[in-house]
Amino acid sequence: MAKYMVLGNWKSNGSREAAATFAAAFSGVSKAPPEGTIYGLALPFHLIDADRFGKTWVGGQNVSRFGEGAYTGETSAGMLAELGCRFNLVGHSERRQLFGETVADTREKIDRLLAADILPVLCIGETLEERKAGRLLEILHGQLAAIAHLSSSTELAIAYEPVWAIGTGIAAEPEDVADAHTRIKAHLAGLGFTQTPVLYGGSVKPANAAALATLKNVDGFLVGGASLKASDFDAIRSAF
Ligand code: PEP
Repeated sequence: MAKYMVLGNWKSNGSREAAATFAAAFSGVSKAPPEGTIYGLALPFHLIDADRFGKTWVGGQNVSRFGEGAYTGETSAGMLAELGCRFNLVGHSERRQLFGETVADTREKIDRLLAADILPVLCIGETLEERKAGRLLEILHGQLAAIAHLSSSTELAIAYEPVWAIGTGIAAEPEDVADAHTRIKAHLAGLGFTQTPVLYGGSVKPANAAALATLKNVDGFLVGGASLKASDFDAIRSAF
């Protein structure tokens, strides 16, 4: 299992031209990440191409909870594997909030990815209202129920993304990140997952990456907006 992971999430952004420009500017394309570290980009479907970014893994942002068949508009895990996806996001807060993705959905999607040999990255996180109402642990534990059925040797990663820090430009305070990660790791250990990396996501940028990377129990980042610019993503990933 990787010790550290720095993943970008392009969301529904990017064109072929933008991807080519990014790849050309990405100084580390041919640079191997340090031992035990994975760099990756979760791309929109039309840009997924295993060869485009050198040693940087490519991944998807969503997957069908079904296999192949009469599921118009869906992309199965097998199809993503065929494109060269090595990892895939599951349960991003935008999927949960805008598309009604449930914990049961995330569980099924994780199972599909594992069966296709794609590393699932389960995104979890609370809204500001939930945090203010003292429901942080209830929400995180509820979302982590999607992996409770898995063997503890299963390779996967968790991305803790407080919803209130995503896309705002203001990351969570280091104390809040450290506290949430410690609690998540404790819960994971209770489920038997002692080696699972826990990434932080929410307005990570070059200016705050180094400080966040030093926090105990932060094993990498999931980076949204700042992963669209090659120089920013390069600076952020160098924090690990
Ligand atoms: C994300 O969408 O996963 C994310 C963390 O976005 P941003 O870095 O832009 O806050």
